[in-house]
Amino acid sequence: MNRIIGFGVFVVVLAAASSAQTDLPDPTTELLTQLIRIDSTNPPGNDERIADLLASKLAPLGFQVETIPTPVSGKVHFLARLKGRGTKKPILLAAHADVVGVERAGWHLDPFAGLLQDGYVYGRGAIDNKGSLAVFTAALMRLAKEKVPLERDLILLSEADEESGRYGTEWLAENYFQKIDCAAALNEGGWIIQNSDGSVRYVSISTADKISIWFKLTSHGTTTHSSMPVRNDDAISQLARALTDLANYRTRVQLLSSTRQFFLTLAQVSKPPKSEEFKRLVGGTNQEVAEADLEISKDPLLNAIIRNTLAPVFLNAGFRGNVIPGTAEATINLRLLPGTNIDQVIDEVRNVVHNPQIDVAISGGGGPGTSDDVQALRDHFQAVGNIEPSRTDTELYQALALQGQAQFHAPVTPYLFQAGTDAAAWRKRGIPVYGIYPYPVPASDLSRMHGNDERVSVRSLAGATDFIYDVLLHVAGPNNACRLQRNRSGKQQRRGKWFSP
Ligand SMILES: [Zn+2]
Repeated sequence: MNRIIGFGVFVVVLAAASSAQTDLPDPTTELLTQLIRIDSTNPPGNDERIADLLASKLAPLGFQVETIPTPVSGKVHFLARLKGRGTKKPILLAAHADVVGVERAGWHLDPFAGLLQDGYVYGRGAIDNKGSLAVFTAALMRLAKEKVPLERDLILLSEADEESGRYGTEWLAENYFQKIDCAAALNEGGWIIQNSDGSVRYVSISTADKISIWFKLTSHGTTTHSSMPVRNDDAISQLARALTDLANYRTRVQLLSSTRQFFLTLAQVSKPPKSEEFKRLVGGTNQEVAEADLEISKDPLLNAIIRNTLAPVFLNAGFRGNVIPGTAEATINLRLLPGTNIDQVIDEVRNVVHNPQIDVAISGGGGPGTSDDVQALRDHFQAVGNIEPSRTDTELYQALALQGQAQFHAPVTPYLFQAGTDAAAWRKRGIPVYGIYPYPVPASDLSRMHGNDERVSVRSLAGATDFIYDVLLHVAGPNNACRLQRNRSGKQQRRGKWFSP
């Protein structure tokens, strides 16, 4: 613990070590440590304290700030609007303020202390998604401080109830859509993946999310004394066989156009034989695709974006030590590609299970005993399951691609996000949403997200703030202002200050 020092102490130590020392931690790092110190584990969320912190920073810089209370006390959305000339619709930057809980025993340091160690900020939410909230806020503050004349409003949204709860962006959009209406939005999603030498391998920007829904397997057998089992008839053994069959089953490979581009990008930044596998997955014969799939799907993340997946999440059976129960239940979480027909998937599952004594039905995700309003689940799936991926020919996507390349010297690709986000509130209203965690992270650090010792590097945070600042300058500054300039040899270079060509 001796090398772990709080941010406040860090500043004091630096100052004491050398009075000439000027490299204080950058504003994004400072803000992130402050955000982490507000424990916003949801439930309950504590978003109001986050809103107060952001308001105290943004209101003095001229942002119009507003806190939108939800029916739950202390649970709020926060909006800050930096006014522009209004010649174009606003751009919105959304990040959720709530975080998932922690298993404290698995952490090597206090997850809510906002600690700096070895060049990293540690804490719950460092990646997901207080890091983004800090980067978006810092980039906007920089534009405000520099008094960049803006063509359009820029809106920061700090969201409640993304990780759980009923008052997330769907609720916000239903009740206050005019406040979050925009030409396009940034949200969490894609990755800037770092190589071990610190260089960036690729930048992925999500244009669609997978959709989550559940089904339940209910197996039926004879209830009887456990001293006289009937071979192959008991509910638990039948359910176990069905689960084994499902675990061994491979759903077919389906590539969205963004996924094709993503794998072609991976091919470009990989060495053989990997690069060849990625190319075969996209353009090979059926046999080649099947062979490539066998290798590629060993990576759980890559597997998740090329097919519908199913994962058992609850089991429920038995009530006495001397009774063979008549029923056994398993709840399975399906993660589906956009455009999937849910009834076809349920039929597919029935075929795999192939047992008339097992019912297969859509259910809620709460596990055994939850009341499942199947119609409501179907309606929800209908509403989000067929959302078109966001287009890539928009000003915001093009700016992300251009500045991403300039900042990180790596290819930029659209991407299907393997999980769900709260982007549906905009996408289903026809507004494009681009998902990105704007800081470079090594792939090995991704498991820390929702896991233990979550962290993001101070250097990544600074680069992320430059990146987002440049993107905003590009889409909202005067005459497509930017910091990029060609030098004599024709190479693009970034200037320290923005300018208008
Ligand atoms: Zn998140």
